[in-house]
Amino acid sequence: MKHFSLLFIFLVILLATSYSDAFTRNNFPKDFLFGSATSAYQWEGAVAEDGRTPSVWDTFSHSYNRGNGDITSDGYHKYKEDVKLMAEMGLESFRFSISWSRLIPNGRGLVNPKGLLFYKNLIKELKIHGIKPHVTLYHYDLPQCLEDEYGGWINRKIIEDFTAFADVCFREFGEDVKLWTTINEATIFVIGSYDQGISPPGHCSPNKFINCTTGNSSTEPYLAGHNILLAHASASKLYKLKYKSKQRGSIGLSIFAFGLSPYTNSKEDEIATQRAKAFFYGWMLKPLVFGDYPDEMKRTVGSRLPVFSEEESEQVKGSSDFIGIIHYLTLYVTNQPSPSIFPSMSEGFYKDMGVYMISAGNSSFLAWEATPWGLEGILEYIKQSYNNPPIYILENGMPMERVSTLQDTQRIEFIQAYIGAVLNAIKNGSDTRGYIVWSMIDLYELLTGYTTSFGMYYVNFSDPGRKRTPKLSASWYTGFLNGTIDIASQDTILLQSNFSGSSSL
Ligand code: BGC
Repeated sequence: MKHFSLLFIFLVILLATSYSDAFTRNNFPKDFLFGSATSAYQWEGAVAEDGRTPSVWDTFSHSYNRGNGDITSDGYHKYKEDVKLMAEMGLESFRFSISWSRLIPNGRGLVNPKGLLFYKNLIKELKIHGIKPHVTLYHYDLPQCLEDEYGGWINRKIIEDFTAFADVCFREFGEDVKLWTTINEATIFVIGSYDQGISPPGHCSPNKFINCTTGNSSTEPYLAGHNILLAHASASKLYKLKYKSKQRGSIGLSIFAFGLSPYTNSKEDEIATQRAKAFFYGWMLKPLVFGDYPDEMKRTVGSRLPVFSEEESEQVKGSSDFIGIIHYLTLYVTNQPSPSIFPSMSEGFYKDMGVYMISAGNSSFLAWEATPWGLEGILEYIKQSYNNPPIYILENGMPMERVSTLQDTQRIEFIQAYIGAVLNAIKNGSDTRGYIVWSMIDLYELLTGYTTSFGMYYVNFSDPGRKRTPKLSASWYTGFLNGTIDIASQDTILLQSNFSGSSSL
C-alpha cells in the first residue's frame, strides 16, 4: 500500500511536470525571432557566374576530396523557390551571408552589379513574404585575392578592406536589413583556420595530425582573433556614425560556444572549467563588453596575445549591440589527464587553455545527443558575467546521414529540447531574442561535404534541378511556428504518423 501511494505521488508529479513543460511558439515574446539559416558558399553555388571570383573556401575545398560548393543547393538560381518554402514554413527570419567576392570581386573597389542585384532580389523576395533578413557579412569566405595579396586575417590591412565591404552592404541593403552579424563564429573560425588547419586558409604549426604548408598555432590564432575584433569594431563604428540613425538596425559579433561543465565536482575541475570559459567565451566577449582580454588568457599566452591600445579598447568595448551564439555541443572539462576530444598538439590554443575536454553526449558526425542544459548554462553565464547582453542563437541543429530518411525525428527532438532550453533561459532573465535552426535546407557541409546534413529540406544533389523535398522537421517547425504544435506533447508523434513523405530515400 505504501509502495502504491508512493508510485501514485510519483505519477502525479511526472504528469504535472510534463504538463508544465509543454509550450508553443506563443510562450515566447511576440518580437522573439524564430528562423533558419544558410551561408553563401554552402548554399549559393554559381561560383564562377556573373563575375564572382574565388574565395578561400573554393581553393580549400578543391584541394580536398570531400566535395565542393560549386553548385551545391543552387540557391543563386533557386532563391525564389526557397523563399517560398520558408514562407510556407512560417519562418520569421532568414539568416544568410553575403559572398564578399560576388559583391566585390577584387576584394576592394568596384562593386559587381550582378552580385549586388542577386542580394537585392533575395532581400526583396524575403520582404514580400514578410521574412526578416539577418545578414552575416563574413562566413568563412575571404576573397582569395586578399589572401594572396597580404595573408587575409593575420594582416591588419584586413580591417580597412572589411570595413569598406561592410560599408557597401550597409549602404545597399541597410534599408531592409535590421540585423547584421559581422563575423560568423569568430572563435572557432580562428581555431579551425589558424590553430588546427582544418578550414581555410589551413594554417597550423607542424604536427602529427594535419599537414599544413604554413602557419604558427601559437601566435596566428591570437593575431587573427585580434584583427577580427578590430575589424568588427571598425564596421560597427561606421554603422553607428553613418547609418544607424536612418536605418535603425543592430550589429553584433557571433562566437561558437560549446556548453562547458566540470567533469567532477572537484575544486580542480571547477577551476579548469572557469579557465575553459575564459578561453572559449571570454576571448571575444570580454573585449566586446569590457574592452580587454581575460586575465587567465593574458597570463598564459603572455606576449603572444596582442595588446589593445587605449583607443582600440574603447572602440571594441560596446561595439556589439547583441552577441550571436552558435551552439551545438556540450563538453565536460577536467584537470585530470583524460582522452580529450581535441588532438593534443604541442602548442596552440588548446595547449594554452590547458584542460581536458570530454564530450557530454554522443557527438560523432551523426545524430548528436541533445544536452540542452549546456545551452542554458551558456546563457546563464553570459547573463551573469557580461551584463546580460541581447543574444541571438544564430545556429543550432543536428547532423544526420544525408541520404537516409525524411523522417528525421531525432532532429526534431534535438531542436525542441534546445528551444525549451532557450525558453527556460528567458524565464530566468536572459535577454535572448531569437533562435535560428541550422540549416534551412541541405547544403555543402564544411566538415563533411555531402555525406551528412542538417537541413529541414532534403536536396537531391544528383538531380540537375536540385529538387527540394520537406523532411518531417520542416512540417514540425511549421506546426510549431504557427502555434498548432505543442512541445512536450503527443503532437510530434501524431505528426510522424501522418507524415506523407516516404521515410526512406
Ligand atoms: C558553421 C556552419 C556549418 C555548421 C555545421 C557551424 O559552426 O557556421 O557553416 O555548416 O557549423 O558544421
